[in-house]
Amino acid sequence: MTRLLVVGGGIAGLWAAVKAADAGFEVELVTKTELAETNTRYAQGGIAAALFPDDSADRHFADTLEAGAGLADPAAVRVLCDEGPSRVRDLIRFGVEFDRGESGLERGLEAAHSRPRILHAGGDATGAAIESALVATVRRRAVHIAERSMLVDLIVDAGTVVGARLLDDHGAITDHRADAVVLATGGSGCLYRHTTNPAVATGDGVAAAWRGGARLADLEFTQFHPTALAAPGTPLISEAVRGEGAVLRDVHGRRFLLDVHPDAELAPRDVVARAVWRQMTAQGGAPVLLDASALGAAFLARRFPGLDAVVRDAGFDWSREPVPITPAAHYAMGGVATDLDGRTSLPGLYAVGETARTGVHGANRLASNSLLEAAVFADRAARALVADSGPGLGGASPDTSCIPATARDSATLTVDREQLRELMWQRVGLERDAAGLAAASARLDAWRAPDVRDRRTAEDRNLLDLARLTVAAAQARRDSIGAHFRTDDPAQAASSIAPRAPELEAA
Ligand SMILES: Cc1cc2nc3c(=O)[nH]c(=O)nc-3n(C[C@H](O)[C@H](O)[C@H](O)COP(=O)(O)OP(=O)(O)OC[C@H]3O[C@@H](n4cnc5c(N)ncnc54)[C@H](O)[C@@H]3O)c2cc1C
Repeated sequence: MTRLLVVGGGIAGLWAAVKAADAGFEVELVTKTELAETNTRYAQGGIAAALFPDDSADRHFADTLEAGAGLADPAAVRVLCDEGPSRVRDLIRFGVEFDRGESGLERGLEAAHSRPRILHAGGDATGAAIESALVATVRRRAVHIAERSMLVDLIVDAGTVVGARLLDDHGAITDHRADAVVLATGGSGCLYRHTTNPAVATGDGVAAAWRGGARLADLEFTQFHPTALAAPGTPLISEAVRGEGAVLRDVHGRRFLLDVHPDAELAPRDVVARAVWRQMTAQGGAPVLLDASALGAAFLARRFPGLDAVVRDAGFDWSREPVPITPAAHYAMGGVATDLDGRTSLPGLYAVGETARTGVHGANRLASNSLLEAAVFADRAARALVADSGPGLGGASPDTSCIPATARDSATLTVDREQLRELMWQRVGLERDAAGLAAASARLDAWRAPDVRDRRTAEDRNLLDLARLTVAAAQARRDSIGAHFRTDDPAQAASSIAPRAPELEAA
């Protein structure tokens, strides 16, 4: 029987584990903390797929390509949009109860989608519904699950991945041999001082893949969300709150977005995020204010029950006073480069979900495409595992812009995580320029990675590797495109605030 190690318990890892177990693999699934502590669990808006008669995979394809600003891979987007509806039906079979109205499945409209096609569950709790259905599904399979077992490094033998080095809660590191490894470790929002991601999102799989010699791509593209509550955990506050009439104010109470874009608070996500960033910079770093007080307590509690609880738990009464908000790192478009079946450039290594760079997002992700991407490409990876089966499975050489692994580390000062996150936020965040990137690079080079003793030090090493790689990728792309905004590219800066369709919902 073929032994498979799946690293990560979000939608991508659970999906791959279930499908591989069904195909007869001996599957072990490891997660860094508790099984359900994932980005998946916090997904709010929903999952996009062309399931309705007035929609088509071709329309979804066109919308996704447009959002990607010309850098998405049409072949990958075609797979995403064509296979998406079948994967959503699989989710329903796995037990996800998407919200239904009198005429069947309810569907929402989100930013830059030309049709309403976003399925949601539990109102704004889609991710939690998916996570719990997939956890229940995997538990019905003979999958061995090891929680609090952290990937530290891949074991690479003669260019082939043959297992992984795992760290337990007591600081013990052991080698786990496998015929193939599937990386599904999620995103890397914790690279930045402010993020909507949970603490597990430290880009471990991408960093380990790079150290193992796998190709990465598109690390310069991080999507920043404009409105996270400026409180511990920086929870996401949906664009739908602004859609209902909430406005953004500076510290003097002025609606500064009226000067920025004709659609003001409902301008495209990247425009609002940059405007918030600039306003915060202008007011010495103080958060801007989201004023939802005109909506009233009863409406806020009824329309946004989950958010209402989050805001009140953070100590704010948003029905009476504006609440502080900040932009926050939200989604990593780049990652481990894969072919259309999850194969990385290393035989024996597959990558799925937010860890993978499949090519579907290009320079910017279309809202609600990430859960779909995870399902579609994890399913294909499971089929590829079967097709490739035998020791030293897979291995592709994707034709992407890749960052080769290089050796470095002569510094003596151990990296400081909070300083690194602040540096990335200030210099490699919503706006970049050559001087800031050079300063960031020099500062990062002055740090060395800690010796891996525990989860914290293992994460710090990953964050340092990934920060360096992200800076290098941002330096290499000198023009502004999609989520990568260079203030030293004035031509693109001017065109990027041209009016577009208003945003309606958040994902
Ligand atoms: C607040 C929020 C709202 C969102 N809303 C939407 C939405 O509405 N629609 C949409 O499509 N997308 C949304 N997204 C994005 C989407 O949720 C993620 O892209 C997706 O869930 C990623 O799934 P994944 O399986 O790749 O990773 P995750 O769900 O993040 O799972 C990663 C797993 O890897 C494990 N792991 C990490 N490192 C290690 C390690 N070193 N060793 C072992 N295990 C490790 C973690 O413990 C976890 O189990 C949202 C994201 C956030 C943060």
